[in-house]
Amino acid sequence: MNAATHRAGWSRLPLRAAAFVLLTCATILGVSAWREWAARDAVLKGAETEMANVARSLTQHAEDSLDLLDSGVVGVVSRLEMDGTEPATIAKLRTLLEARKKAMERVHSLAVIDDQGNWLTSPGTIGSTLSDDAFFRHHQLSPKREAHVGRPVKSLLDGEWVVTLSRRFNKPDGSFGGVVLATISSKYLSHFFEQFEIGRNSSVALMHGDGMIVARTPSNDKFVGRSVADTPLFRDAGLQRPAGAYHFKSPLDGAERVSFFKRSGRYPLVLLATVDKSELLAPWRTAAISRMLYVVALVMLIAGIGAVLVRQLQRGQRMAAALVEKEAHFRLLAEGSSDMVTRIGLDERLRYVSPSSNRVVGWRANQLIGTDALAGIHPEDRPQVQAIVDAMKRGEKDEARVTYRNAHRTSTEVWLESTMRVTRKDNGNVDGVVAISRDITEQKKLETKLETLAIEDGLTGLANRRRFDERLDEEWARAYRDRSSLGLLMIDVDHFKAYNDEYGHPAGDACLRVVAQIIAAEMKRPGDLAARYGGEEFAMLLPNTDAAGCARIGERVRRAIREAGLVHAANGASGCVTVSLGGATCRPALERTAGVGTLIEAADQALYAAKEAGRDGLMMSVEMALLPKAVGQ
Ligand code: GH3
Ligand code: MG
Ligand code: MG
Repeated sequence: MNAATHRAGWSRLPLRAAAFVLLTCATILGVSAWREWAARDAVLKGAETEMANVARSLTQHAEDSLDLLDSGVVGVVSRLEMDGTEPATIAKLRTLLEARKKAMERVHSLAVIDDQGNWLTSPGTIGSTLSDDAFFRHHQLSPKREAHVGRPVKSLLDGEWVVTLSRRFNKPDGSFGGVVLATISSKYLSHFFEQFEIGRNSSVALMHGDGMIVARTPSNDKFVGRSVADTPLFRDAGLQRPAGAYHFKSPLDGAERVSFFKRSGRYPLVLLATVDKSELLAPWRTAAISRMLYVVALVMLIAGIGAVLVRQLQRGQRMAAALVEKEAHFRLLAEGSSDMVTRIGLDERLRYVSPSSNRVVGWRANQLIGTDALAGIHPEDRPQVQAIVDAMKRGEKDEARVTYRNAHRTSTEVWLESTMRVTRKDNGNVDGVVAISRDITEQKKLETKLETLAIEDGLTGLANRRRFDERLDEEWARAYRDRSSLGLLMIDVDHFKAYNDEYGHPAGDACLRVVAQIIAAEMKRPGDLAARYGGEEFAMLLPNTDAAGCARIGERVRRAIREAGLVHAANGASGCVTVSLGGATCRPALERTAGVGTLIEAADQALYAAKEAGRDGLMMSVEMALLPKAVGQ
């Protein structure tokens, strides 16, 4: 995954979190609002049911009242048709009617009217005629004998609003004999309606089929006789059914109302029970507002917490991106480096190895991770490295540089130079070591070569003059400490100038190499040193060697060279290469006046003496006597 897609992937996360928080808030709000709406609907439905019950029972009551009236009317009609309208009959009937009326509270009046519209039973109204009244004309014109319920009218008796129920009675010949009329008072009905507690702003109204109000509670007096024929209840085709719920805006006070209407099946009457919608919904509204306030507070809390979380997510994301970038830089440095970068834990196992390990030690990083960090180190060098690592782990050392030999998977071994540095946790405790290891094998080889060059003679491979001088000083000091004897042999090739002249300079060089090899082969002890002292002159430094030992070795050398039989025609009688040797020994601790220079001088003089004595011989400085040539010959 590259950095760009990484960043894009991250930036979508806070966006998604924000969307989730918003969705959660919207869902909570939506569900709560929906529930509140459902609760409101339930309140309205409940009110409709209640209004329906009221409307049904009051309709039933109105019908029962009219039925009661009708039964009285039917009785009077049959009496009149049987007994006729003779004054005696009417007088008897009047008493009966009075009694009936008293017995039935809801009957306002019960009266008989003759075929001319004159009262037959109500003495107080004699003289007035009802011939123009709607109910009278209805019966006069229609031979039908059913009860007729008329529009509310003001009673002629006491001016009260009443509903009329009337039936026609016939004369014995079947012609129109008159009308029996019973009325029920609007006030009675309105009082009855008041018994139903249907709320402050509610109303119950009984209307005639043509829209005129028969009775109403409250304010019966104000509304009775008014026509509401132009309201939807009477005009809308959809509402002309037996019963139903009906929501409307009151034409009287403009308030929204929930109502239920019921049309009587037997009489031209409609009952409408209404309740004020805002009053009905008031308790629900108060509860809903407090509930919604709680929900809104909750949602705001969620949104607030969500916003904080989203911001933290964004910040975390930015930090992570910065970290990724930083890590990429470091990785690039570690992995792009030709040096091997490793991280070593406190258990001395490798925690991280950079890919250059493949080049430096021949192992891939994944083959090394988890292994012992010091495993590949040469056994001779390991204690030194181990000591440094231990000191670092103990916190005694923060940095170190160490050079050691390390195993390589393919080649025998490599020289590594490691720069190590302690890593610490936040609390300051050491938690490991980072080592940057460089392959310095080539450098080491060069160093060794330079070292060799510095101490070795290029032609013969023996120690050079510089090395000889150093070793002479060292051995002198050691001999002084040990009170031991130090021997020195100076060896000079005889007539070498002539050799060169005879065989050429390159041959002279070759000859010197052979002589050097022979001298080197005669060194038996590890402490002995053979050196090229200069030109064709060699020196042998023999620690712990007395004069006799020195002479013995010198003699061996002399003989070995002679026996090598290197042809040297110009070298006197022998005809082969020979050397002259001067030996000297010294006990530095005992010979206080003596020094390094004295020893060389003594050996030199002895050599000179050997030359003087005829060459191919050894002379020791102490005796200053030439050992016979014949020795060992
Ligand atoms: P002697 O020592 O027996 O008295 O005679 P000599 O000829 O050896 O005398 P001298 O010491 O004066 O001469 C040394 C010669 O050795 C001189 C020089 O040509 C030769 N020589 C010195 N160094 C080298 C060298 O490195 N290679 C060759 N081929 N010849 C060298
Ligand atoms: Mg010589
Ligand atoms: Mg010489």
